[in-house]
Amino acid sequence: MTISAQAKALADRIRSASRAAALSGAGMSVESGLPTFRSGSRALWRNHDPMTLATPDAFARDPVLVWEWYRERLRAHGSAQPNPGHLALAELERRIATFTLITQNVDGLHLRAGSRDVIELHGDVRTSRCIRCGERVETPLAGEVPPRCACGGLLRPNVVWFGEALPAGAYERAYEAVAQSHVFIVAGTSAIVFPAAGLVEVARAAGAFVVEVNPDETPATSRCDVSVRAPSGEFLPLVVQHL
Ligand code: NAD
Ligand code: ZN
Repeated sequence: MTISAQAKALADRIRSASRAAALSGAGMSVESGLPTFRSGSRALWRNHDPMTLATPDAFARDPVLVWEWYRERLRAHGSAQPNPGHLALAELERRIATFTLITQNVDGLHLRAGSRDVIELHGDVRTSRCIRCGERVETPLAGEVPPRCACGGLLRPNVVWFGEALPAGAYERAYEAVAQSHVFIVAGTSAIVFPAAGLVEVARAAGAFVVEVNPDETPATSRCDVSVRAPSGEFLPLVVQHL
């Protein structure tokens, strides 16, 4: 099947669906110029592997290094623009009675693209919280690193690091939305970070039509009804065109 035929098939499913959901990952923002943690030569940051920086251990060992990395990411997010894939998902929310977007991304691009019902499973970098008193503040873009709370405690980015629990209630809300969906779109995720990846099984168990959008095969591929081998910024706008 051509990409366009796959887009039409998904649009047909969506037209008869009153409830749908999507799960997005770092690949979704690649076309906005933001790298994934795992993508080729760009994956290293000043000789550090991001996979080892996004951990509680790294922050405990070297909060300055981790903060310098997040500051740089925050600046990159600020200069990035939502791409046609983000915009298409925002449009789907307007066209489908109930559409919940579950994202593992911390870049805020879905919200900037106009999506409203967004569950940020892994938090966001726009806010930070104090590791001593829990106070939440807007992440300071300048000033001393690591930034401190008024109470003197260290601030940390309000994101979920590898090995940490998800924000309270976030997975439950995502589970609920997926379990009631007729269509589930999985875009730009390697589907290896749990529990997010487990939502594919939740959708299958609920009898949803599950579509993966990813240029590469993933562990979820064999669990999906259709796997579209295309960038999300190309495929998702085609789906909207066919609606
Ligand atoms: P991942 O890096 O593990 O996987 C990215 C996937 O996207 C890959 O399977 C890749 O084949 C695919 N991909 C690449 N280009 C694509 C495109 N144009 N269209 C569609 N798919 C494309 O990402 P993940 O599964 O989200 O898990 C990694 C973790 O890293 C998450 O916890 C996330 O919070 C974090 N992260 C977030 C950002 C961000 O917010 N932009 C960036 C890097 C990492
Ligand atoms: Zn504090």
